[in-house]
Amino acid sequence: MKTSRIPGFYKMTVDERQELIKEMHPFSEQEKDEFFSISPLAIDTADNMIENVIGTFQLPLGLGLNFLINGKDYVVPMAIEEASVVASASHIAKIVRQAGGFTTEATGRVMIGQIQVVGCTDFYVAKEAIITEKENIIMAANTAYPSIVARGGGVEDLEVRILNGDSDSKYGQMLILHLYINTVDAMGANIINTMVESVAPLVEEITNGKVYLRILSNYADRSLARAHCIIPPELLETGGFSGEEVRDGIIHAFEFADSDPYRAVTHNKGIMNGIDPVVIATGNDWRAVEAGAHAYAARSGAYRSMTTWSKDQAGNLVGELELPMSVGTVGGATKVHPLAKMALNILDIKSAQELAQVIVAVGLAQNLGALKALVTDGIQKGHMALHSRSVAIAAGATGEMIDIVARELVETKQIRVGKAIELVEKYTK
Ligand code: NDP
Repeated sequence: MKTSRIPGFYKMTVDERQELIKEMHPFSEQEKDEFFSISPLAIDTADNMIENVIGTFQLPLGLGLNFLINGKDYVVPMAIEEASVVASASHIAKIVRQAGGFTTEATGRVMIGQIQVVGCTDFYVAKEAIITEKENIIMAANTAYPSIVARGGGVEDLEVRILNGDSDSKYGQMLILHLYINTVDAMGANIINTMVESVAPLVEEITNGKVYLRILSNYADRSLARAHCIIPPELLETGGFSGEEVRDGIIHAFEFADSDPYRAVTHNKGIMNGIDPVVIATGNDWRAVEAGAHAYAARSGAYRSMTTWSKDQAGNLVGELELPMSVGTVGGATKVHPLAKMALNILDIKSAQELAQVIVAVGLAQNLGALKALVTDGIQKGHMALHSRSVAIAAGATGEMIDIVARELVETKQIRVGKAIELVEKYTK
């Protein structure tokens, strides 16, 4: 049976970890060779993905462990350069699984395509004309991408708004159409862009206006994913801090982020520390996810905390994270980058909605990890100890020297590159 509990994983060598993952997952021999080669993304593939290629850029790929989500175990691939993120996610997931795990849901799989119409003689008449012709526009858009309709998706609805109807500037007045498109398991940018471009001439004909922009919106607020967790305070106890003290500190920390954009940005960056690595590892578009997430955090008009933390009547800590999550399990780089294919295989994900839910659960875990550290020992203690190896490498340490220097940096409580350079010089003399 697949489990995400792999005690002692962090103590294994990279080779031992790879062997274990190969045993746990149904990779073909060819996939094993491809996934675990020194440079899985072949230069020829890279050259076909973007322009002006001169090489490939690698990031560490780690596994977030212990995730129990809706009763299913997930081993979560995370591609990230920052130390302590994977450890923190796994630490919190271990706590949450003792409390029954995360529960998650997705609100739907509807993305938005926008069409901007300008120069109408009367925007109100043009708006009415669009409403009258709504079904014909939907049909034309679906005809432009029949394969997504055949997969059970396609345009589900259309809405139209006038922006700046009273503006004196001809540049300000516009009609904006929204096509609501079910993109099934694709993120859908190309599907949507094809559809909105194809119906633009029809929209011009109907409105007697001129269409300029035809593109998806990355504000995917009809593709929301939500994660919750409920944690008894005793599971939060750490060092000299009681569970109640930690719980209350976390709620105070949430209130701080929810009330102050200076804190909210850093709080939310910590959430994206969990989200982006999974989005990247699965070959998804992290800029799209980032842009949508931050816009959603500002939907009240102020930039606020993406998560909420509170206490229920029994005194448990209750956390929730809801975000637009425009990710796919097909399309984009998901089936092009060998490691994205491997990541989706390790995750054992069946749909884009399932992937979206795993991602928000990791974001919620990451936020709790950061807050728990911040309200107790402070972030530096755990973070810098794990960061010490990178500091040693930055100072020129190689091979066995990395461990020796990193250990001494931690022991002397001076995790700085200057100190590491001194140590490297001392040990190489
Ligand atoms: P693709 O166009 O690469 O692939 C989607 C295609 O996958 C579908 O058209 C469909 O083609 C096929 N498919 C196979 N199985 C399924 C399934 N179960 N559900 C849905 N489709 C399936 O990807 P996207 O349209 O998702 O576009 C994502 C890419 O667009 C990303 O790389 C992103 O970076 C980029 N992009 C992003 C923009 C933005 O965010 N603003 C703008 C422009 C591009 P078929 O049915 O024909 O087999």
